[in-house]
Amino acid sequence: MLIGKALLTDPVHTKSTAFTRAEREQYGLRGLLPYDVASMDKQKERVLESMRSKSSDIEKYIFLNSLLERNQRLFYRTLIDHIQEIMPLIYTPTVGEACKRFAHIFRKPQGFYITPEDRGNIAEILKNWPEKDVRIVVVTDGERILGLGDLGANGMGISIGKTALYVACAGLNPAHCLPVMLDVGTNNKALREDPLYLGYPHSRIHGDAYRSLIDEFIQGVQIRFPGALIHFEDFVTPHAFEFLDGYGSKVCCFNDDIQGTAAVTLAGIYASSRITGKKFTDLNVMFLGAGSAACGVAELLVAAFCTAGLSESQALQRIWIVDREGLLTTKSTNVKPRIVKFTREYPEYNFEDAVDHIKPDVLIGATGVAGTFTEAIIRKMTHANQHPVIIALSNPTSNTECTAEQAYQWSEGKVIFASGSPFEPVRYADKWFRPAQGNNAYVYPGVGLGIYASSARFVVQKMFLVAAEILAQSVTDQELSAGAIYPAITRVRAVSHTIAVAICRVAIQEGLAKTQLPEDLDSYVKSLMYDPSY
Ligand code: NAD
Repeated sequence: MLIGKALLTDPVHTKSTAFTRAEREQYGLRGLLPYDVASMDKQKERVLESMRSKSSDIEKYIFLNSLLERNQRLFYRTLIDHIQEIMPLIYTPTVGEACKRFAHIFRKPQGFYITPEDRGNIAEILKNWPEKDVRIVVVTDGERILGLGDLGANGMGISIGKTALYVACAGLNPAHCLPVMLDVGTNNKALREDPLYLGYPHSRIHGDAYRSLIDEFIQGVQIRFPGALIHFEDFVTPHAFEFLDGYGSKVCCFNDDIQGTAAVTLAGIYASSRITGKKFTDLNVMFLGAGSAACGVAELLVAAFCTAGLSESQALQRIWIVDREGLLTTKSTNVKPRIVKFTREYPEYNFEDAVDHIKPDVLIGATGVAGTFTEAIIRKMTHANQHPVIIALSNPTSNTECTAEQAYQWSEGKVIFASGSPFEPVRYADKWFRPAQGNNAYVYPGVGLGIYASSARFVVQKMFLVAAEILAQSVTDQELSAGAIYPAITRVRAVSHTIAVAICRVAIQEGLAKTQLPEDLDSYVKSLMYDPSY
């Protein structure tokens, strides 16, 4: 049992100034604390005051990260109670800046690092992680961090941020979550030449050397933390699909950029139909960008259309994909294998002409390139639809296809807009619009909680389909009338709980649950949710 200074400085067990007089006596803390016995609320107030006094978001990020290192419960209590204000500071968009400057703002190691020098010993070194009951492993190799490209070991900021959201948004216990950086080098020369860079200072390993290291890592996790859910994050598209296809039916894993994005976007489409009144199976959905995000969404859309009664070929006809060279058709070259099924015999229109001719109901941006939804595009969408649905997924904010303000201005307030990064409410023609954030945090934490609760052996597509349905149903009529197609983020824990219960049901139906689950899934899942209080 910890006592004295060791207890006071232990981030998991400390209560800092909230230790009672009796506890101060019992644990040898007298003299180590100022007189006042603070409540958690009072501590939270102090945190908020300090955080808000910082002059920039990155300063706030650094401050919050140090709080996590000092007092885990206070950090999560503050984050949960002020999620709307704090989530953008610990995740997108601030985390993008934090990753770029990771080596310069580094204070204390968090998470687990694996490099090619650990080859042959990964299972062994995983023993060094102090927690023994890890249920979720968030892993990146840092090669495609948000829309920022190869950030090498700096990508650890993403694994840490995603882990924090598992805890805050779905109540996973922090002890069950492990952020991992598979540091296989970086091809970002500027980073390698940065004297403060903290990562493996070589070019990326590739081919067999890379794949065998990934394989050893996956095996290592099975040995050390059997059954843990592996969450792949921010791998480049070919690797993202390769690992999902290769490991998806062998170990419990998913890729959030593909499957989490897919579910959150599908939920937005479902909810938008509640505003437009259009029948889901009648929708024409166009994507700009044919990367992992678009492909994941398109594949889940096909499954959703089929569930709603279309045949697979009818479903494919509802989806249009445009990349740099224009609309992807059977004549297009260099189409990624996974995208081929979405090509069709059609004229090779450029983006504007494709919008003109096809008149999509829904337009989804997944390019990573700002400004690609131009005024002309938004006007064409508005001309074709009473309420065009525009989902600009690209992160961070500086890379979004168009801003919320542009979307409302150019559509004269008619657009139903959502984006990957958060935007402030927009006033247009005396009406306030609340742009919704298609944040993966609405889906993956709840899915993770459901997998943990059911000890599911694998993650299946149906889990993301039900997560999308639940998320769409959770949007209130009032939110819809303000133009929002996602619920207020303040309700994310309740949404995650409902998603997790549904995931348990899928796990039972599909014979994936490893254990007999109680009948009252609602209470059971609730009982597993971490609630940071003293
Ligand atoms: P990716 O690199 O795999 O794909 C990007 C695709 O866009 C490529 O096919 C590229 O050729 C195409 N492209 C680039 N410029 C273009 C242009 N001007 N016109 C047409 N096509 C163009 O990236 P990804 O993993 O698919 O992610 C794309 C973006 O989506 C990133 O910014 C990422 O941060 C964002 N994203 C957001 C969420 C979310 O907010 N929920 C989730 C996942 C990804």
